[in-house]
Amino acid sequence: MKTFEELGVALPILKAIQEMGFESPMPVQEEVIPFLLGEDNDVIALAQTGTGKTAAFGLPILQKINVSIYQPQALILCPTRELCLQIADDLNDYSKYIDGLKTLPVYGGSSIESQIKTLKRGVHVVVATPGRLLDLMTRKTVNLGLIKNVILDEADEMLNMGFSDSINAILAEVPPARNMLLFSATMPQGIAHITKKYMNNPKEIVIGKKNEGNKNIKHIYYLVRAQDKYLALKRIADYYPNIYGIIFCRTRKETQEIADKLIQDGYNADSLHGELSQAQRDYVMQKFRLRNLQLLVATDVAARGLDVDDLTHIINYGLPDDVESYTHRSGRTGRAGKTGISISICHIKEKGKIREIERIINKKFEPGEMPSGKAICEKQIFNLIDQIEKVKVNEDEIASLMPPIFRKLEWLDTEDIIKRMVSLEFNRMIDYYKDANEIEVVDERSGKDRDSAFKKKDGRKSRDTEEGFVRYFINFGKSDGLYPNQLIDLINKCVPGKAKIGKIDLLENFSFFEVEETAAKRVMDRMNGFELDGRRISVEVAQEKKGEGRGAKKRPAPFYDRFDKRSRNSDKPWRHTSRSASRKK
Ligand code: AMP
Repeated sequence: MKTFEELGVALPILKAIQEMGFESPMPVQEEVIPFLLGEDNDVIALAQTGTGKTAAFGLPILQKINVSIYQPQALILCPTRELCLQIADDLNDYSKYIDGLKTLPVYGGSSIESQIKTLKRGVHVVVATPGRLLDLMTRKTVNLGLIKNVILDEADEMLNMGFSDSINAILAEVPPARNMLLFSATMPQGIAHITKKYMNNPKEIVIGKKNEGNKNIKHIYYLVRAQDKYLALKRIADYYPNIYGIIFCRTRKETQEIADKLIQDGYNADSLHGELSQAQRDYVMQKFRLRNLQLLVATDVAARGLDVDDLTHIINYGLPDDVESYTHRSGRTGRAGKTGISISICHIKEKGKIREIERIINKKFEPGEMPSGKAICEKQIFNLIDQIEKVKVNEDEIASLMPPIFRKLEWLDTEDIIKRMVSLEFNRMIDYYKDANEIEVVDERSGKDRDSAFKKKDGRKSRDTEEGFVRYFINFGKSDGLYPNQLIDLINKCVPGKAKIGKIDLLENFSFFEVEETAAKRVMDRMNGFELDGRRISVEVAQEKKGEGRGAKKRPAPFYDRFDKRSRNSDKPWRHTSRSASRKK
């Protein structure tokens, strides 16, 4: 393997990338850098995101800039504003020691006047989304006459987003004697058209096989029944306490719904989709980048350009329609040599799609085993122990507290104290999971659901409702001070005409009750919306015994979450949003 120096990278850039921790070139850089440093060399590079492509094109084009000419000499086109900003940021980092070199990101959604002003002052590199650049060209505020290098980044995405005409119009204005480099994760038909029209005998570089997924990514799938998808998602999130990932949904509506449910259930999640304003999207992305958000629920389009390197997981809440989107989604984890996991929670009908993706990315998906409540508790406990081991002790701040604490605990030995501390957390978790039904993955061989996806932990089916009665779920439980007598009073008050009441199951945060079938309509009509202690009652027919899911118990807040956020160190898991922090215990 060659060094950056051997590839021809000049000193000021070498110094900057060394400071950034780039020790040796990544494969795409090894191929592209020396080639682009030469003249008249066009390149088509098939490379996934996260392979180091920004530096592959960024370093040679920066090196070739003549800083004394205050005109754009390199043009980078990319599909989204976020990617545009990311690339410009990276270029600024690489050119930190090149005096006077100016890079300008131009993108829609921000003041065109200030972009025009900066262009007038003189810039060397323009990173642009096609629409905004075309706008600037129409206003004759940008001069592309001295462009020597053109980069099309994520070319397939630009075509998917309908930028084909804009790209053609832009390229028509760039002088023909220039290098052109096209990066794409896939090679759809439209790309062949561009390369034929605008590129001169391009060298084709393939990093990995065509359309092949990143080698560092493990692909796991869970086939579940449609109504278990959300429960499966929660289990998976619980099983990985340090998860930092994106949950991809197919529609904006589904994205918002899943994010809302997760927040309601106490997860540190938020949504990112096209119905949010630009300011809202920026805010969410920033939170996610800073790791103040653990789970980002997003649509494919909104998440494009969100450049975060160390995601631990990608979760496909259902598979996307095309394999390219899957490659893009999964390519967001396992970046820069790290390993990543791409999890797909699918319906049995999507099995064929899994096989198709496997064939194209040339990688097998592993069937996942749904973590049991016990396994999750263990995982969470060991995570807590790990945190205890690693926590920074602020000796000065706690010094005055310690003597009375030591005095109070002096009758316990170390083993007792550890046991108690573990029990403090474990009891609450066990309590949460003991009523939760296990979720079964759908039997793949028969293609049918096993007798029921809801089973009690001992393997028995959920308890049956008495003949002639309907079982209801109500969003009040013992923790709300609800007792059987009070519930009976409430039902009688709401449902005039004395309905017969059957079994009552009072649980911690919600309950079940049975009422005779003939009163079913009255129960639903009258009880829903009725208020108890200032809170609206919500009653639903309970098809299955509800251990999890809508209206179910909220996930227990971890032990350390009860402390003030400021006192917690920054890489602690489960940092809850303000909304989730106020959730019911
Ligand atoms: P990219 O594919 O350009 O988005 O790069 C993915 C990540 O790899 C970014 O965080 C880069 O900063 C990082 N990176 C790029 N080249 C190198 C290198 N040679 N050594 C270490 N990290 C790199």
